[in-house]
Amino acid sequence: MPPPVFRFAPSPNGYLHLGHALSALMNFDMARAAGGRFLLRIEDIDAARCRPEFEAAIYDDLAWLGLEWERPVRRQSGHFDAYRAALDRLTEMGLIYPSFESRGEIARMTAERGGNAARDPDGAPLYPGHANVLTAEERRRRVATGESHALRIDMAAAIARTVPLHWQETGSGPDGETGSVAAQPAAWGDAVLARKEIPTSYHLSVVVDDALQGVTHVVRGQDLFWSTSLHRLLQDLLELPAPGYHHHRLVLDAEGRKLSKSTQATGLRELRAQGLKPADIRRMLGLT
Ligand code: GLU
Repeated sequence: MPPPVFRFAPSPNGYLHLGHALSALMNFDMARAAGGRFLLRIEDIDAARCRPEFEAAIYDDLAWLGLEWERPVRRQSGHFDAYRAALDRLTEMGLIYPSFESRGEIARMTAERGGNAARDPDGAPLYPGHANVLTAEERRRRVATGESHALRIDMAAAIARTVPLHWQETGSGPDGETGSVAAQPAAWGDAVLARKEIPTSYHLSVVVDDALQGVTHVVRGQDLFWSTSLHRLLQDLLELPAPGYHHHRLVLDAEGRKLSKSTQATGLRELRAQGLKPADIRRMLGLT
């Protein structure tokens, strides 16, 4: 049996905080315990928000924590062709369509529907548009003229092509879900898989990369628990293997909120500057 493969996949759009440390250390410790491999992947598809100094800081902070990872590190910005190939495949299956509304227009359309508009698991309103009723000819014409657009998955058509999907959860979801969890991809509506300015999305690239890198265990924060529904759907459509999942508790601030990259008090750089040692970080996180 080949060894299990774990990965930590941060985005270099800020400095790492205690929440990232928990994810990275859990991946590393679980890989060690299982005699497995530990990969680091840089999720830098969003050129407008990612910066080289944040990437350099990721390597620096993780090395300080005592982690070792395989080289070369996969950086998503170097693999847009792989994501394009996956998107082309979904397009050939008739599951992708362009939508032309701006974010502002979508917000307005949602507001017009009143307070009870359905939202996706990230809290964003479900796509309320009607681009999926445009004729193929009309779509081609508007894309050809260079009109800004997003490429969306036709969720109803995608679900019609798959069987009910599950994943194996060894951690837990926000409501204690564990074991065999039923994926609920419909909750995402016609999700955006690529935009004109970013030719892929988190959901598409994560699924492609986990498969290409042979990842067998995805260990990440509970905030991504319901993203797994969409990931399972994409894996099934693209005939990619499904890893096992372990979603862990989130590290919260004093007010009980999820940490953000700008929270100075919990930044690894700040804690290190205050003289804390990696063992102190482990202790703060409740890791032995
Ligand atoms: N890049 C994502 C983040 O920083 C994590 C992706 C994942 O672990 O699936 O939140």
